[in-house]
Amino acid sequence: MKYGVNEQGYYGDFGGAYIPEMLYPNVEELRREYIKILDDPGFKAEFEGLLKDYVGRPSPLYHAKRYSEKYGANIFFKREDLNHTGSHKINNAIGQILLAKRLGKKRIIAETGAGQHGVATATVCALMGIECIVYMGEIDMERQAPNVARMKMLGAKVIPATSGSKTLKDATNEALRDWIANPVDTHYIIGSVVGPYPYPEMVAKFQSIISAETKTQLKEHTGSELPNYVLACVGGGSNAMGMFYNFLDDEEVKLIAVEAAGKGVMSGHSAATTALGKEGVLHGSRTILMQSEDGQVVEPYSISAGLDYPGIGPQHAHLYKIKRAQYANITDDESLNAGLLCCQLEGIIPAIETAHALAYLEKMTFKEDDTVVVCISGRGDKDLNTYIKHFGF
Ligand SMILES: *Cc1c(COP(=O)(O)O)cnc(C)c1O
Repeated sequence: MKYGVNEQGYYGDFGGAYIPEMLYPNVEELRREYIKILDDPGFKAEFEGLLKDYVGRPSPLYHAKRYSEKYGANIFFKREDLNHTGSHKINNAIGQILLAKRLGKKRIIAETGAGQHGVATATVCALMGIECIVYMGEIDMERQAPNVARMKMLGAKVIPATSGSKTLKDATNEALRDWIANPVDTHYIIGSVVGPYPYPEMVAKFQSIISAETKTQLKEHTGSELPNYVLACVGGGSNAMGMFYNFLDDEEVKLIAVEAAGKGVMSGHSAATTALGKEGVLHGSRTILMQSEDGQVVEPYSISAGLDYPGIGPQHAHLYKIKRAQYANITDDESLNAGLLCCQLEGIIPAIETAHALAYLEKMTFKEDDTVVVCISGRGDKDLNTYIKHFGF
C-alpha cells in the first residue's frame, strides 16, 4: 500500500471524494461496484478482447536506434500512438463503457477540452450503441472544430458550455449538473486519473496495460523486464500512471513525469503544476494544483491542449511528495523542437503532449548500458497546424 490507494480512497495525503451531497449516490455506486466488476472474468475477457481486436493491442515496444545513438543509451518507445483513435485515451474509454453497461447505464456523458477525450468517448459509445452527450466549452468548440465534427460523425451530441470562460472548467460544471439530474441511467466517463475516488484508481487500472505489456516486451528485447528510466508526459496524468503502474514497487526503476512549462515556469503562462502549485481540492480530490493566494484556480497555459490542466491526479501528487517519481517540465519551444527531431530521426510525428516527454531526454545524462522507455502517448496528426505555424512548413 506504499504507493497504492487505501480504503478511504487516499494516496498518502491525496485523493478522497470531495463532492456535493447531490453526487454521493452516483459516486458511492461506483465505489461499491467497480472492483467487483473489474475482477469479473467475463469483464476481463471482453476488455482484453476489445483491446486486442478493436484498439490493436499490444502496442509495440520499439527500439529507437537513432535516438539510442544520439543519446548514448538504449531507448525504447512504447507506441500508444498506434492505438485506434491515436492515443492511450481509448484504453480507459473502453474500460469505462464496459463498466457502464454492467451497471445498467443507458446514457454516457463526458466533458472535453481539446476534444481528444470526447472523441474517444464518442467512439466507444458508437461501438456499443449507447447515447453519448459531450459537454464542451463554446470557445473550445470553435478552436477544435475538427474534433467537434468527429464526435458528431460518431453520433455524439455536443453541447456547448456557454457560462464563465466557456472552456473546460465550464464544460465540467455542465457535465456534473447533468449527472446530478440523471443519477440512475447515466455514467460519467472521466478521461484522466483525476476526479473523486474511485475514478483515479479505476482509470489507472485501465491504463496499467501500458506498463504490463512493457515489462513483457522489454524482457524479450533485453532479457530484463526492468528499465533504468521510464518517462511520460503529464496533463492529468493517465498515460504516465499507466506507464508507471507496474514499476512502482521496482524501486530501482526511476520514474520521470514531464509537465508543460508553457512559455516558461515563471512566465505566468504555464501548466507546470508541481513547480507552481500548492495542496488543495480540485475536481473532487485533494491534490496539488495551481492556485492564487486566496485559493482561486489559476488558468493554466500550454501549447498542447492535453497538458493544459491546472492540477495533477492525486496519485501523482503523492508520488511527487514522497519523491518516488521525479517531476520535470518542458517549454512549448523545447517540445516543438523535440517533436520535429522525432520526425527526422525516427519517422514518427508525435503529439505535442508526447514531445514534452521526448524533450526531457536532452536534459538527462546516461550511462552506456542504461535502458530507457518513453511513453509515446499519441500521434501528432491533430497537431499539424501547430507544427506548421511554428516551423513554417
Ligand atoms: C490527453 C493526452 C495527454 C494528457 O493526458 P494524461 O491524462 O496526462 O495522459 C497526453 N498525450 C496525449 C496524446 C493526449 O491525448
